[in-house]
Amino acid sequence: MRQSTRIGWYLFRQRLARREKFPLIVELEPLFQCNLACAGCGKIQHPDHILRKRMSVEQAVGAIEECGAPMVSIAGGEPLIHPEIHEIVGELVRRKRFVYLCTNAILLEKKLENFRPSPYFAWAIHVDGLRERHDESVEREGVFDKAVAAIRAAKARGFRVTTNTTFFTQDSPKQVRDVLDFLNDELEVDEMMISPAYAYEKAPDQEHFLGVKQTRELFREAFGEGRRRRWRLNHTPLFLDFLEGKVEYDCTAWGIPSYSLFGWQRPCYLMSDGYAKTYTELIESTDWSKYGRGKDPRCENCMAHCGYEPTAVLQTMRSPRQYVRALIG
Ligand code: SF4
Ligand code: SF4
Repeated sequence: MRQSTRIGWYLFRQRLARREKFPLIVELEPLFQCNLACAGCGKIQHPDHILRKRMSVEQAVGAIEECGAPMVSIAGGEPLIHPEIHEIVGELVRRKRFVYLCTNAILLEKKLENFRPSPYFAWAIHVDGLRERHDESVEREGVFDKAVAAIRAAKARGFRVTTNTTFFTQDSPKQVRDVLDFLNDELEVDEMMISPAYAYEKAPDQEHFLGVKQTRELFREAFGEGRRRRWRLNHTPLFLDFLEGKVEYDCTAWGIPSYSLFGWQRPCYLMSDGYAKTYTELIESTDWSKYGRGKDPRCENCMAHCGYEPTAVLQTMRSPRQYVRALIG
C-alpha cells in the first residue's frame, strides 16, 4: 500500500509537471558477471575485462538521482558478487527508493547479514520452476534447493521476499501453475513476478523462446479457473490481461530504462542500440517511435514487463475503474 500510494503520487506529479516521458523503475546493472551461465541468458556474454568491472556506489546512486525514478530493480549479472552492493542498496533505501535486488540466491544466505529489512527493500529471487525444471533452466543441480533455503532464511529475518519466474517453450500451463502455487502457498513469498523469456540474440539457447501466440496461450490456460486472482502477482491487472492477449499495447520502453556500466542503454534492458550519458539525453536522443512489435524485428516476440508494464500502469492511472481493480488485486 505504501508503494502504491508513493507511485500514484509520483505519477500525479509527473502529470502536473506535464512531463511526457519519465521513469517508473530503473533496471540497474552494476556488473555483468554471474556465478551461473543459464542457457537463456543474454547478459553475460561480455569479454573478461568487462565482466570484471564493478559500478561504484557514487555512479549507481548518481544515475538514480538524475532520473528521479521511485523504484530500482538491481540486476546484472549476479548483484551479490558486487562487494559494495549492500552500500548501493543502503544509499537508495536512505533516499526512499523502492529497491528490488534480483538474485539467483546462491550467495544470499552468506550475504544476508549485510542487509537490513525495510519497507523500501525486497529480494527478487530467480525461480524458474520446481526443482528439476529450475535446475535445468540454470544448468546446475542444487540451485533450486539453495534458492528455497535462501527464501526461508530471508523471510525468517523479516525481509520482504519476492520472486521472478521466466517461462520458456518447455513450460506447460500446469508447470506455470505448479511453481506459482508452490511460491504462493508453500513458501508464502510476498509477491511474484512472471515473464515470458525475451529472445536475446546472444543467448546460447535460441530454440526455446516463446512467440506471442504461445505466450498468450500459455498464460490464458495457466490463469484459468480464477487462479490469477488467488496468486500474489506483482503486476498490474492490465499487464496480466496483456499476457493473456485480452488487450494489446504499444511498448513504453522509456518507462523502465536500463542503466549499466556502459551508461543508459537504448532503447531498453533487452536491446542495445547504443548508450547515453544521462536519462535526459536518453529520452531526447532516442527515436522511440522505431521500437515495439511491428516496428523492429527484434521486438517481434517481446511481451516483457520492461516494455509493457509501464503502458499498463499509465492506462491504470487514466481509469478510476482500473485503479480500483489494481488496488484490490
Ligand atoms: S542467473 Fe541471471 S544473470 Fe546469471 S546467468 Fe542466469 S539469467 Fe544470466
Ligand atoms: S518491444 Fe520494447 S521492451 Fe521489448 S525489446 Fe522492443 S523496445 Fe525493448
